[in-house]
Amino acid sequence: MLTINNLSANVGETQILRDLSLTVKAGEVHAIMGPNGAGKSTLGNVLTGREGFEVTGGTVDFDGKDLLALDTEERAREGIFLAFQYPVEIPGVSNMEFLKAALDAKRAHQGLEEMSSVEFMKLARETCRQVRMDQSFLKRGVNEGFSGGEKKRNEILQMMLLQPRLCILDETDSGLDIDALQSVSDGVNTMRTPERGFIVVTHYQRLLDYIEPDFVHVLAQGRIVKSGTKELARELEAHGYGWLDSEVA
Ligand code: ADP
Ligand code: MG
Ligand code: MG
Repeated sequence: MLTINNLSANVGETQILRDLSLTVKAGEVHAIMGPNGAGKSTLGNVLTGREGFEVTGGTVDFDGKDLLALDTEERAREGIFLAFQYPVEIPGVSNMEFLKAALDAKRAHQGLEEMSSVEFMKLARETCRQVRMDQSFLKRGVNEGFSGGEKKRNEILQMMLLQPRLCILDETDSGLDIDALQSVSDGVNTMRTPERGFIVVTHYQRLLDYIEPDFVHVLAQGRIVKSGTKELARELEAHGYGWLDSEVA
């Protein structure tokens, strides 16, 4: 589904990603761990085509398409979704309006009609229940005054409504209490299907007890330096990243 080959990218003048390669097949969950500043969020930003991130080399193939040739909106329509490490607030736009607009844009791309308000509200309420989020959040401005954990839950709500093909979760577990971690994980697990892939960026083994990854990768200094199974996450939790330095060298 996704083949990243020798991807290099800059932020401003600084090279962040260096010849990063990663393949995600449909149905797989890939966890990405790694030290602060390694380039994990940069990878998500580059894949979604966020402004300010310049690709300087390499290729990204998504479902046979050249992903890097598409703009941000086209990538979203193709089914790439990023749950932000730091979700943005959009005061003045209700969560409900925002979600419906996003969903309708996706439907239009698939040749489907706009959803009726009644139909949408039914779906939105049901999805709120699934992520155990109070329905009152639908009426508030997007993330406006939401706590850290509420913002992360809201990202998952958005993801569950949009049903993307490739879901990238950037530290969605950071700042979550145990209950929120459980409902976010449940949300992800209900979305695991043979057609969908996940890239889950996390610092904590704990999340991977709930969302069992097929593969675990370490991203350090802009590239994948080690890949393994969920056992690798346990080793990292026990020993940190220092022991990798000799292997990488
Ligand atoms: P990670 O998510 O692995 O902690 P990031 O991808 O956020 O790391 O950042 C990688 C490096 O790129 C860091 O050194 C960070 O300071 C730098 N960086 C990321 N975004 C920007 C930006 N918009 N402007 C300047 N530097 C940035
Ligand atoms: Mg970080
Ligand atoms: Mg980050």
